[in-house]
Amino acid sequence: MEQVTGRFAPSPTGPLHLGSLVAALGSYLFARSSGGRWLLRMDDLDTPRVVPGVADDMLRTLEILGFSWDGQVVWQSRRVDAYAAALNELQLLGMVYPCGCSRAEIARLASAPHGLADELAYPGTCRSGLPQGKEPRALRIRVPLDEIEFVDGIVGPCRQRLQEVCGDFVVRRSDGLFAYHLATVVDDAASGVNQVVRGADLLPSTPRQIFLQRVLGLPVPDYCHLPLVTGPGGGKLSKRDSAVSLAQGRDLKREGGALLLNALRFLGQPLPELPQHAPVSEILDAAVDCFRKELIHSANGPFPL
Ligand code: GLU
Repeated sequence: MEQVTGRFAPSPTGPLHLGSLVAALGSYLFARSSGGRWLLRMDDLDTPRVVPGVADDMLRTLEILGFSWDGQVVWQSRRVDAYAAALNELQLLGMVYPCGCSRAEIARLASAPHGLADELAYPGTCRSGLPQGKEPRALRIRVPLDEIEFVDGIVGPCRQRLQEVCGDFVVRRSDGLFAYHLATVVDDAASGVNQVVRGADLLPSTPRQIFLQRVLGLPVPDYCHLPLVTGPGGGKLSKRDSAVSLAQGRDLKREGGALLLNALRFLGQPLPELPQHAPVSEILDAAVDCFRKELIHSANGPFPL
């Protein structure tokens, strides 16, 4: 059987928070419990949103918490040539077209969001050529009419019609940056990632990524979407909830073990029997040994503190 390769891919647009800890730990447990590799990638492609210093803080925080990754950290900001090559392939296939619509125009024309936060299905205005007077802004990919289906390792069978949820989506943004979906499938394939474990906020994006993988002839990894940590108001925890930043107001060297145990509890895992104040690396090793995927539930909830 092929060795599992998992990964954790935070965006350094704000400090790691409790939700990031769950994603890091969940992906680590899945990969390591099957003797697999666990890679670390910095999704620092969205340069206007990257906060200076955050990526280094993230690496330090992960180290303090005892996580060790295989190989070098991959920095998306250094991989634009690979994304350009993939875009070129899509262009050669005739799947990409320039779009001259602004967000406001799309918002005016798009059908009501399809139950997914902030999501407006692109109405296809520029699909058969830029209307007169419009300047090209972003590049979009034509999506198919049929449903994309996959089985998530935690959530179960999923299906989505891209046309309804997002329509032809952006692969290169109007500011010239490559879009996250394109970058992530290119990187996952280039690093041999065959297991993607991440927060359920990305579940609605997964069919877009599977579609891109199919078009580009890339392998489709196994997907597992973890329950989300909810914030003080019961909604999705956000990087803006500064109180939930991992490092802020916490002595991670002292409290890291307790945080890991709480993250294990959040994931429904049995707590390893270890002496109090056991080093984080021992907690992680023991958690890997007793990891049971089937105990992870799919309901979101608050982080037990
Ligand atoms: N960088 C993305 C985020 O922090 C996650 C990417 C992924 O796991 O595919 O939301």
